[in-house]
Amino acid sequence: LKTRHLPTPDCQQQWWQRVDAVLDGQVVEWRRALHRRPEVAFHEFETTELLLAALGTLGVAVERPLETGAVVRLRGAGPGPVIAVRADIDGLPVEEETGLPFASVHAGRMHACGHDGHMAIGLGLTAVLAAVAAELPGEVRVIFQPAEEILNGGAQALLAAGVLDDVDMVVGLHLWSLLPAGGVAARVGPVMAATDEFRIEVRGRGGHGAIPHQAVDPIVTAAAIIGDLQTVVSRRLDPALPGVVTVGTIHAGSAFNVIPDTALMTGTTRAHSATVRELLHREIGRVAENVARAHGAEATCVIVPGVPVTMNDPAMAAVMTGAIREALGPDAILDAPAQMAGDDFGFLAERVPGCYLLVGAGGEEAGATFSHHHPRLTIDERSLGIGLRVLLAGLQRLMDEPVTTRP
Ligand SMILES: [Zn+2]
Ligand SMILES: [Zn+2]
Repeated sequence: LKTRHLPTPDCQQQWWQRVDAVLDGQVVEWRRALHRRPEVAFHEFETTELLLAALGTLGVAVERPLETGAVVRLRGAGPGPVIAVRADIDGLPVEEETGLPFASVHAGRMHACGHDGHMAIGLGLTAVLAAVAAELPGEVRVIFQPAEEILNGGAQALLAAGVLDDVDMVVGLHLWSLLPAGGVAARVGPVMAATDEFRIEVRGRGGHGAIPHQAVDPIVTAAAIIGDLQTVVSRRLDPALPGVVTVGTIHAGSAFNVIPDTALMTGTTRAHSATVRELLHREIGRVAENVARAHGAEATCVIVPGVPVTMNDPAMAAVMTGAIREALGPDAILDAPAQMAGDDFGFLAERVPGCYLLVGAGGEEAGATFSHHHPRLTIDERSLGIGLRVLLAGLQRLMDEPVTTRP
């Protein structure tokens, strides 16, 4: 009988009984209450109040390593791994258009990415485990992380605060409206993309709109650069490897009849490996500088580093796939493609072995047909219970047979 890290059968049974109790009551309510009061990155003050109030009813000790967010340690008496579970808590500067009865009451703010659901699952997890914490073989550390939606956000702040210093494994999830509710994916390898920003400044020589031959037009140069940037992915990148180059902003000029001195562009790159990431950055710079030169202008390209690839540890992904099968049955295992969106969970999974789940939350029936960040994003709320059950089954297995522990 293997008992080293396995929670006692009694303890396991209690987990599942408590899951049912929590699901019946609170998780959906928590999600809706949090959905009503979205706040943007590092401004999640009201959100933190709501979290603290809910955690207060669960009788757990709460740590506050950052100004917003919270950390709960559910620590057992027995030896075992420390497993962090991360739930991000920020909303977006989006005006909600769902018309839901629990829609945002904050103008221009919306939980348009589903982080309200992540918090509700984190609270549900805490509610289930709090009662049996003493029996846990090891520790489950529930991290309510602020500021996922911006660069240089919450994950880096948590790492700097040492929250992951003694952690063996980290688990995260995203409710995903592009996947059907009922299923969950635990991919091996990349799940979310390395996400960076580039800024290109084109410097020409301004002049009169009617006398172009005495000027160096940065707008025409910028247009040529944008055109040629499309060849970075289509001609420089191995077609078997995914990559994205998108120009998102372009600003130049102030009058219809004036050629300006400069043009500024910003954009984003996405990649699923460090190699592709570097190639995109190098080639964008090369194209910008040399196309500008061909036009008699100059261009500089600055890369603003964002987040690394979210890379799932293969052993953890295998364990979590087993957990999906156990909690929901084999049909619930989804084979989702790696996404080109980014998540700063990548920083956490870079520090310790990690696994990031995509929890199906979409479907016509629930009207959940819009993409994340859309003003009409909704989720099928069944995904909340599904995410919670898979997490619990996964944590049981990871505590039972830790795929990795600190030396
Ligand atoms: Zn988002
Ligand atoms: Zn998100």
